[in-house]
Amino acid sequence: MNEIGAVTLRGMEALPVEVEVEITGGLFFISIVGLPDAAVKESRERVRAALRSVGLPLKGRVAVNLAPADLPKEGALLDLPIALAMMRGTGMLKPVRPAFYMGELALDGRLRRVRGAVPAAYLARARGLPLYIPRENAEEVGLVKGVEAYAVGSLTELAAVLRGETEASPVTVSSAPDAPIEADPDFSDIKGQAAARRAAEIAAAGHHNILLVGSPGSGKTLIAKAMNGILPPLSDEELLETLLVRSTLGLPAEPGRRRPFRTVHFTASSVSICGGGNSLRPGEVSLAHRGVLFLDEFTEFRRDLTESLRAPLEDGQVVISRAAGTVTYPSRVLLILAANPCACGHLGDPAEKCICSGVELERYRRKLSGPILDRVDLQIAVPRLLTEELLSFSGSAESSAAIRERVCRARRVQQKRWAPCGFSCNAELPEKIVRRYLVLSQETLDFLAGMAGRLRLSGRGISRVLKVARTIADLAGEPDIQKPHLAESLMYRRQGTTT
Ligand SMILES: [Zn+2]
Repeated sequence: MNEIGAVTLRGMEALPVEVEVEITGGLFFISIVGLPDAAVKESRERVRAALRSVGLPLKGRVAVNLAPADLPKEGALLDLPIALAMMRGTGMLKPVRPAFYMGELALDGRLRRVRGAVPAAYLARARGLPLYIPRENAEEVGLVKGVEAYAVGSLTELAAVLRGETEASPVTVSSAPDAPIEADPDFSDIKGQAAARRAAEIAAAGHHNILLVGSPGSGKTLIAKAMNGILPPLSDEELLETLLVRSTLGLPAEPGRRRPFRTVHFTASSVSICGGGNSLRPGEVSLAHRGVLFLDEFTEFRRDLTESLRAPLEDGQVVISRAAGTVTYPSRVLLILAANPCACGHLGDPAEKCICSGVELERYRRKLSGPILDRVDLQIAVPRLLTEELLSFSGSAESSAAIRERVCRARRVQQKRWAPCGFSCNAELPEKIVRRYLVLSQETLDFLAGMAGRLRLSGRGISRVLKVARTIADLAGEPDIQKPHLAESLMYRRQGTTT
């Protein structure tokens, strides 16, 4: 490898790029070849101005070649290595130890934060080479263990380091703080709604997708948001996975170990949800990886949008193919959907009467079905509370921290049980595993068979009921699924759309 290594991104992967510079006499001109995108081409102006800040006025024809030639190069992160290669080309810089460099240059030579610092850290670690990054990227790179990284503030500073005049400041490796997760909103702030709270706890414990159905103002959005506060904290590995997606988009690391929570509006485009576009960026479903993807007013989403979410939810990853290549992003999310019970919003409301016709109700019910709803394990009604009910709940309800403790305990049980099969929670189990491992006693089996017949449950429906029942039993600390667990699980099938 060239002594001045650069990187470019393909999805979440950083690929090495070599920068070659040739300077000849003649009129001043900089040309860049090797499939540069618009941002790389613009780096000519930034690099030229920044070099002036270190006392290097460029003269003559400057040819910059980015190799390998067939790999598309993108973004401003190549500014720094291009500037360094020019300094080497003019003899301003003596030979240096091979390393990777990345950073966008301001006109005065300061280094600006770039996207892709975490993927670059993985690459540098794999090659056993040091990595120089803008100071603003230090925090996220500090979370990657085993990489030799240095943070620099400007081209002048880096030039002094490379000439051996000053010491580089190494990025300190830090692990995410284990500070308690602050729930906002907290379940203790939510009045009443015992059934919905219970369903939220089960969904969080088994990582089950959930649909909340209720009239406007019933508090279903509040419950959805509060669910993030009862999920277990991110593990080290999960934290790095979420960090990688954020870094690819140039977003800083989120503080602590709180899981991502992304709300998607029905006006969003499928590129913003699933990723893609010309630059093959990840979308909301990948930003929500290892956390929650919340689709409010679900029935307002166009069919093609929900259809495009089907594969990411099914596979746990998004595959984007374009002429520029194929990239893959992770998308293991807990899906929370919220919807009104009917078109007018008042079906089942204690105070206001539903004015929908039978045809309208039927049409609405059809919207609450389809590929995404097939992936929802729990449905729960969130009734609007009457004023007198709201006033009667004077005492404070159980806090999110207390609920999270039970959720974490149930998760640990699941992790231990499914680790040999390669799964971490009940919701992940494929049907084949459900049939093989979730064994019932004859009495419980008879009960399930009777109910399944009465409710006309499909094979898939039965396996979903079993998975939720397994989570309910795990929350209760029971080794076997019993009748009450199944009975409660069945409740989350029937309620919702019809109440
Ligand atoms: Zn209605």
